[in-house]
Amino acid sequence: MHGAKFIGLDKESLHVLTTALARLEAGFTALPAVTETRVDVQAVTRVLADVAERLGDNYPYFHPLYAGQMLKPPHPVARLAYALALWINPNNHALDGGRASSHMEKEAVAELARMIGWTTHLGHLTSGGTMANLEALWVAGQLYPGATILASEQAHYTHGRISGVLSLPFEAIPCDRFGRLDRDALRARLDRGGVGTVVATIGTTATGSVDPLPALLDLRERYGFCLHADAAYGGYFGLVDNLAGSTRRAYDRLGEVDSLVIDPHKHGLQPYGCGCVLFRDPAVGRFYKHDSPYTYFSSAELHLGEISLECSRAGAAAVALWATMQLLPLARGGAFAKGLATGRRAALELHEQLRTDDRFVPGFVPELDLVVWMVRAPRISEASERARRLFAEAARRQLHLALAELPVDFFHLEGTNIQRDADCVTCLRSVLMKPEHEAWLDRIWAILDEATGAALKAS
Ligand SMILES: *Cc1c(COP(=O)(O)O)cnc(C)c1O
Repeated sequence: MHGAKFIGLDKESLHVLTTALARLEAGFTALPAVTETRVDVQAVTRVLADVAERLGDNYPYFHPLYAGQMLKPPHPVARLAYALALWINPNNHALDGGRASSHMEKEAVAELARMIGWTTHLGHLTSGGTMANLEALWVAGQLYPGATILASEQAHYTHGRISGVLSLPFEAIPCDRFGRLDRDALRARLDRGGVGTVVATIGTTATGSVDPLPALLDLRERYGFCLHADAAYGGYFGLVDNLAGSTRRAYDRLGEVDSLVIDPHKHGLQPYGCGCVLFRDPAVGRFYKHDSPYTYFSSAELHLGEISLECSRAGAAAVALWATMQLLPLARGGAFAKGLATGRRAALELHEQLRTDDRFVPGFVPELDLVVWMVRAPRISEASERARRLFAEAARRQLHLALAELPVDFFHLEGTNIQRDADCVTCLRSVLMKPEHEAWLDRIWAILDEATGAALKAS
């Protein structure tokens, strides 16, 4: 049964789940049958209809016309593997709670480590990038007690907050006009001393800018600090073959950082609840030491719970990631990498279209698959208002963009007579992270064009 229009909610693959579920059940036939727990299908059907009704109140994240924030649907194999695992509901805190899923987690995490060239590592999945960064900065704080943590002004705000949680001083270092940590400003700060950790953002959340890792590695050589890469968003992009030279050079040396965070639930086709933290030196595992009186008794092997700050964690998340990587291995030039590369091509194409349209002022050339642009106006403050109107006009036409507040310096204002009455501007931001975005670019542009007309008419 197909609807007249396929708008992106796959139902066809559901039968795969029934088949796999039967196979899973077959592994437990030695158990006596349980007859007491039956599902009240009618009641569940009623509730689920209400749920479907409620969930309709969402932006269509799964659709190519949703080109706003960092949201993309999980791959069907991830969704199905996650669902299948829920009949077991494993807990990857310990092997007792999730035997198979713990092994799958270790294999999946080792693949992520291998992607950046590590044959040994310590690492595990987390509930997301925030927890993963918390662990990395916590370990860095153990190595450099009381020392300051530095990240760029465009780094995710979580680093400042995490530093607060860890009671470690935090300072933001200015960015250059490409949204990358400014190496001279960093050097000047390092000269003043007291720094224990520098966070390199490999793909900022606002613009997808990649900090100059080779320069940061040189500085680590000279000053000695923990270099942590927050690649929550951009971590997978080393696999694509269409990066700019300077971006490529950063990815080529990603394996030299001390720790790294990557979010499979951002670009790894996973449902939410899947981040990953990796340490280059497995010996940092000593900091996690604890004496649980009751959790571990079935194995002498190191449990994931012994190298993780979080206790209970979704084993299903590991199962989903493992399954996805079986289908789409992390190979340079492979199908997964090609999906990322199409988003990047789409971003470059949209940037180029914006550049040649005098109603807009584009930001710098995208490093990954994020595009930002200003709406041209006599004054910056007015450009901000116009951006907000364009955002609303586009949404009214089913094109969902995002708004971002960015330094005016990120935009090429030379040669324009735009009056600079503010240092920050509200601009449009589009994350073209779905492989379908490239093919939809003409339709996206047509709506953007019409919405811009409407937004400017109102001004
Ligand atoms: C998304 C993101 C985070 C936060 O990760 P969550 O998974 O949302 O907790 C941290 N850093 C960067 C660069 C991100 O893009």
